[in-house]
Amino acid sequence: MKDESLQHRFASDEPIFSIEFFPPKSEAAAKQLLRTAEEMQAFDPDFVSITYGAGGSTRSRTLKYARQLYEDYNYTVMPHLTCVGHSRDELIGIVRDFKEAGLRQIMALRGDPPKGETDFKAHPDGLHYANELVELIREYFTDCAIGVGGYPEKHLEAPSFEVDLLNLKRKVDAGAHFITTQLFFDNSCYFAFVEAAREIGINVPILPGLMMTSSLPQAQRFCEMGGSFLPPELADALETAGEDKEKGTEIGLEWSFQQARELLEKGAPGLHLYILNRTKPAATLMQRLKSAGFYTA
Ligand SMILES: Cc1cc2nc3c(=O)[nH]c(=O)nc-3n(C[C@H](O)[C@H](O)[C@H](O)COP(=O)(O)OP(=O)(O)OC[C@H]3O[C@@H](n4cnc5c(N)ncnc54)[C@H](O)[C@@H]3O)c2cc1C
Repeated sequence: MKDESLQHRFASDEPIFSIEFFPPKSEAAAKQLLRTAEEMQAFDPDFVSITYGAGGSTRSRTLKYARQLYEDYNYTVMPHLTCVGHSRDELIGIVRDFKEAGLRQIMALRGDPPKGETDFKAHPDGLHYANELVELIREYFTDCAIGVGGYPEKHLEAPSFEVDLLNLKRKVDAGAHFITTQLFFDNSCYFAFVEAAREIGINVPILPGLMMTSSLPQAQRFCEMGGSFLPPELADALETAGEDKEKGTEIGLEWSFQQARELLEKGAPGLHLYILNRTKPAATLMQRLKSAGFYTA
């Protein structure tokens, strides 16, 4: 997998499968991440991504685990990078570090304001929007595959869906190769988003992001954070599970399976799973999708 470029992989007929990790903050969490990395090898993801948090410490943690996932587990690794708190020169340095580590794909993001702040403030010598980061990466790392974030239900700060879509187009025009979406539980949002994007000339692959929820409070929290709609049928089903984690997981999995099935049947280029560093739901979902003939690997 390592030798095939992501752009090449996106061009093939077989649907993409990718998973997202976050850098752990404790020894126990690090062990869980590495265990999951090992267990998910059985499903041969096309790439794994690793998020980038606010503040300087994640700079080293994202790189550390990106390197480990690449070197020890042979994954195609896409570290995320955000503009938060970084000058342009620092961002160039981080991009160089990724490049020197052998990583050839980056998820380019603006990032959220740090905790406790409501508005994004760029570093005085930094970048204001993700399209500027895409431009910068293109300048310093010409053979890098660049992913950007897309919001089927509109980015929370955007004044309208249409304005947000035009801003998404800026990222693609700056050189992004594909879009990964914010999580959603209602496929109709994704299909409408893809259609609207195509209408304004956004022609890169739009990889749907799915999360397998396990409880109503968790689903509500994620929907609130990302501005996603929580379908009442899902909310009601999760409510019946109450504190029963196993039942909640089963309900979340069944919902994700039905979402994934419809997305792939109707032509989505693959799936990106927000796995929260856990194996079981993602592995079960992939197993079911394989049994249903959606993935052959
Ligand atoms: C797939 C995915 C992965 C993510 N990973 C991380 C992560 O690792 N770490 C993290 O901290 N966050 C992550 N996020 C969250 C993301 O950082 C936030 O949603 C953030 O608020 C916006 O980032 P962006 O790159 O989409 O910003 P942008 O594309 O810059 O958009 C931000 C806002 O500004 C508007 N806008 C964009 N460009 C312009 C412009 N040129 N002029 C005027 N307005 C503009 C947009 O409409 C939008 O409202 C992720 C999101 C997604 C979808």
